Amino acid sequence: MRILVVEDEKRIADFLCRGLQGAGYAVDAALTGGEALDHIHSADYDIVILDLMLPDMDGLKVLEKIRNRKLGPPVLILSARGGLDDRVKGLEQGADDYLVKPFAFVELLARVRALLRRGQPAPEKLQVGDLSLDCTRRKVSRAGETIDLAPKEFGILEYMMRNRSRPLSRTMIVEHVWDMDYDGLTNIVDVYIRHLRSKIDDRFPQKLIQTVRGIGYMIEAPDRPERQA
Ligand code: CA
Repeated sequence: MRILVVEDEKRIADFLCRGLQGAGYAVDAALTGGEALDHIHSADYDIVILDLMLPDMDGLKVLEKIRNRKLGPPVLILSARGGLDDRVKGLEQGADDYLVKPFAFVELLARVRALLRRGQPAPEKLQVGDLSLDCTRRKVSRAGETIDLAPKEFGILEYMMRNRSRPLSRTMIVEHVWDMDYDGLTNIVDVYIRHLRSKIDDRFPQKLIQTVRGIGYMIEAPDRPERQA
């Protein structure tokens, strides 16, 4: 899950990024409307958190451009302008939610999670073979046995399970799980896949994580193909 935070006040932007990263999301920050649009054109976001008062343009202008895109991400407006007019205007122009500053981080997080659930009709529980992942409670188990994963490992596994039986390149995995500040090599993915394999596959006869030569990785239960969730 990848989030774009559009906020020109560095202090608030840092606070949001840290909090959201701590909650396990990949987060990019844009300090201006122009930067936000560049990010939106170059990456797929699952949600955009948008401040209205930006130095170079009105946040509603950014919202309009996002809404002009096919399948644009849900937008949560964050603004000091809490008047009813402003709220109605934001929602009318296609924002999915509106939160007035100052706000409590827990409330923001709850709303982000609600929007992500809405944007993702995918089930809250993912299953591949006897491996299950609970997206809401962030729990993983295989054959009934709980498996502890680090946040990035969980992020990779969730992304793979949402795309079961689909080969994913290292770049795709990096883009979904790390934020833009991450400029390391994609072979970090190999390292994490090794960790994941040691936790979910090594002890079991049936291996779920497959290496796809020339592409990357895929998760699948080969012996017992199940219908797409
Ligand atoms: Ca502002």
